[in-house]
Amino acid sequence: MSELLRDLALANRILAHEGVVDAFGHVSVRHPERAERFVMSRSRSPELVTLDDLMEFTLDGTPLDARGRTPYSERFIHGAIYEARPDVMAVVHAHAEDTLPFGIAPAKLRPVIHSGAFIGAEVPVWDIAKRFGERTNLLVTNVAQGRDLAKSLRKNNVVLMRGHGFAAAATSLIDVVRMSVYLPRNARVQFRALQLGKVKPLSRGEIQARTGGAGYKPQSPETQRAWQYWAARAGCAELLKQLS
Ligand SMILES: [Zn+2]
Repeated sequence: MSELLRDLALANRILAHEGVVDAFGHVSVRHPERAERFVMSRSRSPELVTLDDLMEFTLDGTPLDARGRTPYSERFIHGAIYEARPDVMAVVHAHAEDTLPFGIAPAKLRPVIHSGAFIGAEVPVWDIAKRFGERTNLLVTNVAQGRDLAKSLRKNNVVLMRGHGFAAAATSLIDVVRMSVYLPRNARVQFRALQLGKVKPLSRGEIQARTGGAGYKPQSPETQRAWQYWAARAGCAELLKQLS
């Protein structure tokens, strides 16, 4: 557990340094022993998160040991996805600008580069106004909104949120960080390519070969290489050495 919490603190720093989150956005992990709980930082910019900021929540977003700490107002995104998807062990929510055009325009976000394969063949768009009307502040601030978002995600890895950002879900922390780092890059490439004409996305076979085939293992040296690289770039090389 202590290693997972360290990695969660690290994931916050990595996502901030890679420009996926800024003052806002967050990452969580499902509790490894209690599936009905998840862990995320108190309401703090990810770049500044330390182990002391991490809090446990039930899936309805209730803090278990707040000790005066204020939770993120959008924690319901995370709890609702864990509730709907027993396979999901880590979630990211962010407002990365490069993903936003695809939440408001007809062009669908698709994996178009090899590192974007992890987002999966389908990336649905969730529009909060469909169920909650035209007067929300676009943020997911209660369980009902979280559940509606999780329903849109279905069995996919990423759901775009109209005029707001995205939520990404994966079976491990390292997977969700990797996906969240490459998602805006994939979006940027697709956006640029659309200026040139018709875009050819990865085929289902290519996506499968990248993500589910023999070529991909979550704990592979290549994956660890990426984690170490991101941690070092974020100035967290020392944190990475602790406990390992
Ligand atoms: Zn948000």
